[in-house]
Formats: sequence, C-alpha cells, structure tokens
Amino acid sequence: MEIIDSIQLRQSSDISLLETMERRYRSIPMEAIIKQDVLRQGINFSKESLTTELDYKTKDYFIFSFDHMPLSEMKKGEDKKAPEEIKLRGGHFNLQSTVISTRNNENSPYIVRLKSNIPHLFLQETDLGSLEFPPIPSWYRHKTSSGKLPGEIAPVIEWGYLIYLTVFRNCQYFGKEEECAFCDINHNYRQQKNAGRPYTGVKDIEDILEVLSWINEEDSIAKVYTITGGSVLTTLKKKKEVDFYLEYPTAIEAKFPGKWMGKLVSQAFEKEDCLRFKDAGIKVYHPNYEVWDKNLFEKICPGKSSWIGRETWIRRIVDSAEVFGPSYVIPNFVGGVELSEPYGFKTVKEAVKSTSEGLEFFMSKGIMPRFTAWCPEPYTTLGTQAGPPLDYFCELLTSWKEIFEKYNLPVPPGYGEAGVGKAVFSVSAFMDVIGYKERA
Ligand code: SF4
Repeated sequence: MEIIDSIQLRQSSDISLLETMERRYRSIPMEAIIKQDVLRQGINFSKESLTTELDYKTKDYFIFSFDHMPLSEMKKGEDKKAPEEIKLRGGHFNLQSTVISTRNNENSPYIVRLKSNIPHLFLQETDLGSLEFPPIPSWYRHKTSSGKLPGEIAPVIEWGYLIYLTVFRNCQYFGKEEECAFCDINHNYRQQKNAGRPYTGVKDIEDILEVLSWINEEDSIAKVYTITGGSVLTTLKKKKEVDFYLEYPTAIEAKFPGKWMGKLVSQAFEKEDCLRFKDAGIKVYHPNYEVWDKNLFEKICPGKSSWIGRETWIRRIVDSAEVFGPSYVIPNFVGGVELSEPYGFKTVKEAVKSTSEGLEFFMSKGIMPRFTAWCPEPYTTLGTQAGPPLDYFCELLTSWKEIFEKYNLPVPPGYGEAGVGKAVFSVSAFMDVIGYKERA
C-alpha cells in the first residue's frame, strides 16, 4: 500500500490499512496504531449504544470540545450520552486493554454497536473488540454548596486517574489574529453556554476545595491534578496571570498537602515565576510549544508568537528544567497540526522530520516532550480538515520512541503506568509504546 502524501482528503480507514500498518511499523504495538486511528477519525456511536441501561461517566467537556462536529448537530444523544473514553480489548487483533478518548464524529468509520447488549467497536463490519465505558466516581453524586456539579468543577479523565481543573475556560488570545489556530476553547465555552449546559468560566477555589474533599474521602483512583486554562494577557479577577493561577495550587496544597501530584499546563513562564509554582507544590510543568517549525509556530500560534515569541518560549522551557528537573518539564505539541492547510507541510516525511528535530532538541536535554493527536474541530481557525493520514502517527510514534530510548529517559511522571495494556493517557498513544519490544 502506498503511503498517502497528499492531505487534501481524509485518508479512509479499513482493515487492510490497519494490517498494512501492523506489518510496516513493528516497533510500536497494534494497540497504539488503532488508538491513533480512532483518535484521528473520531467515533460514531449508534443510537442504540447510547440508550443502554449501563451507568458510565459521560464526556465532561473538560477544556476543548475534542469533537469533529458541533454539539448542535448531535442528533443521537452524543452530546449528553457519549462516554468520556472507551476501553477496547480483544477483537480482530486480539488487543490488550486500550483507553481512547471520545471524539464524536458521525462520519467516522469506527462505529460503536451493541453485540449481545455489550458495546463493541466496529471498523466497517469487522469487530475490533468489546468496550467498557468509564465508571462514574461515587463522589459525582454530590453537589457543592453553591449548587455546582463535581463533573463541572473537578472532572476526572484518564479512567479516573487525573483530576482536570480548567480554572479559566476562556483564553485572552482572542480571534483569528491571536488564538492558536487549532484551539476551540473560546468557541467551546460559547457552544456549551448556548446549549444551556452549566459551564463555569472562572472556577471558584472554594468549589474546587469542596469537590476535592469528597475525592480525598471517597476516591482511590485519582493520583494527579492538573491546573490549567486559557492565557491571561491583562488581568483576570484583578490579578496578573501568574498570581491568578498560583492561587489554586497554593490553596489545594495548603488543605491537602502532597495528596495528589500537582501539574500545571500554562504559558512558558520565566524561571522566577516557575519557582513560585514549584514552591506552591507543582511538580510537573507543561509549557506547551504546540508546533516545532518556526514558520508554523508564527502562523498557527499567532498570539503566543507576538506576545512571547518562539525563541523566548523555547528558552523558558529549557530554563524551567532547572526548577522542576528536566523530566518533570513535559511540553506538549499538537501531533499532526504541522500538516494542516494552508500553511503546513505537504508531506508526512517533512512533517515528521521537523517534529523530530524538536523531540531531539528537548530530549537531548532530558526534557520530555509529549503530544496529543490534533482533532480538527469545526469552530477553530483551521476548521474541519482532512487531517494527517495514519502513516504520520505511526512515523511520529516510532520517532518519539526511538529518541526517548536513545536518551534513556525515565517514564514520564504524572501519567500512571506505561506500556501496552496499562496506559491510561487517552489523547495519544505515547504512553502505550513505552517498553514495547519489536514484533517478529
Ligand atoms: S494559548 Fe492557545 S491553545 Fe492555549 S487556550 Fe489560548 S488559544 Fe488555546
């Protein structure tokens, strides 16, 4: 089978594509290949699969929409009933348990149907395995004294492992001239409000502490929390960006010292600001650089580029390693956005070469770049697009693993267990490939 180099049309998925990838990419597990393809295509839930008697945790829309379609076009109940994640096992490839984030797409070739009343994932007519949906934490039954639901204030993802605290659900990089071109945080906020869903813009620390007190008492699965939200360029609640975000880990660590590992996903800050977060109890720092190529960074992250600049952003990432320790600095990039129209690379080869340069740059310093799989969401500057072919993700995972192994890096902290059958990180397969031995 030919490697698809043109990205004008979304590469379709079928069993023959998956089997070709299985033969071609032997250093990554089949579970990782399928996970990337399901993320790339999204999931089409049949109506019957969303009307079962099963109890499970549905999508909390914890930051972005991560859907290929607007909420208003979901006619089968996906907006309210789609599970946060699926856990796939067995089937045609005899897969070990694989946790995959849900991205609704009614045009996806990956379809969830019921078989003997159990949800299964099908690719066309081939059964890829049975599915579990995530359990609802017991503490989701409570309401805060201000009347808020726990899933809105402190949802869990990654099969319950990560408490995701998007404390500011907008971004002050606003409009096409400033917003990152792949990001729908502001648009998702609007669509959630328009749909009449409870969706708090700036979270109250007291609400968060109240939910955390139930997690503290009732939960044994959550091990990590993430503080994140949009960038603050002026002030928010009369505070500058660092002061605003710092309040949250400070309050959490004062009330529950060391109970969970604290992570911060934010802009790249200067070292003295990083020290303040470290002193407040943050262990893992994610100053996301989004895309490595200089020209693409300017085009795809226009706000970050003009307010901070790529060189400064990268220098701050490197400096922050002195504060947190290199392997505790885990900057994310959006895997596949370097192939986006109109500015992106035209071939998989160029895209992976460029992104691998970035991996080499950071990993040679012991810093741990990781990626999420780009979801071409409709309400973004880039809009709905074909997105990269599966070859891209297989090449990227192979390259990530090779460089990770070359520098003998440790398992990234704050992601739970690594390896096929164990990883819970659900928006890319970088944790699933760690430790995998080449198949014969
Ligand atoms: S900085 Fe970019 S990716 Fe982050 S929330 Fe703002 S627009 Fe989105």
